[in-house]
Amino acid sequence: MTVLFPRLALIGTGLIGGSIARAARAYGGIATTIIANTRTQKSLDRVAELGFADICELDPAKAAEGADLVILCSPVGTYASLAAQIAPALKPGAIISDVGSTKQSVIRDIGPHVPAGVHFVPSHPMAGTEFSGPDSGFAELFQNRWCILTPPPGTDDAATEKLEAAWKIMGALTARMDAAHHDRVAAIVSHLPHLLAFTICGTADDLADETRQEVLQFAASGFRDFTRIAASDPTMWSDIFMNNKDAILEMLARFSEDAQAMARAIRWGDTAYIEDKINRSRKIRSSLIELKQA
Ligand code: NAP
Repeated sequence: MTVLFPRLALIGTGLIGGSIARAARAYGGIATTIIANTRTQKSLDRVAELGFADICELDPAKAAEGADLVILCSPVGTYASLAAQIAPALKPGAIISDVGSTKQSVIRDIGPHVPAGVHFVPSHPMAGTEFSGPDSGFAELFQNRWCILTPPPGTDDAATEKLEAAWKIMGALTARMDAAHHDRVAAIVSHLPHLLAFTICGTADDLADETRQEVLQFAASGFRDFTRIAASDPTMWSDIFMNNKDAILEMLARFSEDAQAMARAIRWGDTAYIEDKINRSRKIRSSLIELKQA
């Protein structure tokens, strides 16, 4: 069977890297040899135990050496340093990609290190859970989820198509976007919701002891859903906030204005305003269900 990338190196093998490795194993045609890298020996030992990679390598440059596709799957704040380390090891014709949740910063941090003759195609699978580490991945994670590719201007189209083909084999729906546009979209659909979840959990935690106990005891589904989102990895999310500042702050400012408008409607008993907002939200929910993204 022909494969797109005989050697696939995953730099970072937690939820996303581990899911790519498992998907590459489960669905043929992506890779023959999978090389896994992690920051710590402990995680690498666990990857070896789980057995979803053929080679486990602690040195990122050695992991990337000779690979046809290298995907950075660690927090976005690590990309500049990792790219500098692996760049000299990349073979001509190889593709370097990533799965980072912010795209302008990734192009800023990886772009300058990419050697001539190597193709750089950033990507962002819009799929995930609140869990991290090598145990948390699964082959079906990307099924019916969007993966957005943001090739910088001048990127070889054949390289983008090849990477797109790999994501499609993993079950993803693919789209191409300009990195700045991606960052604004991601700010509203993912980064702002996480910011709100972290904040609401913080607010509940700041309440007096007695009330906090009740929050935990009687958590209705609304609060419970926020706690699931808020259980995500702190380093990964702090890196995302630091690397998509402008878009997140813009969406937060818009949200704050809208929240104030809702507060005003509640104060003045403007039920028409309140019901209109809720009806619009319900429509968004039914559209998501129709699009099979719920
Ligand atoms: P994860 O489960 O925490 O795994 C992170 C991996 O990166 C681990 O293998 C970790 O190794 C390694 N790593 C951490 N710090 C490193 C460093 N300084 N140098 C080298 N490797 C390092 O994270 P994840 O959820 O897979 O997220 C990975 C990337 O995917 C992030 O850029 C994130 O923005 C993006 N993403 C995440 C989601 C999501 O929902 N989780 C969705 C889409 C995209 P150790 O275990 O040894 O520390």
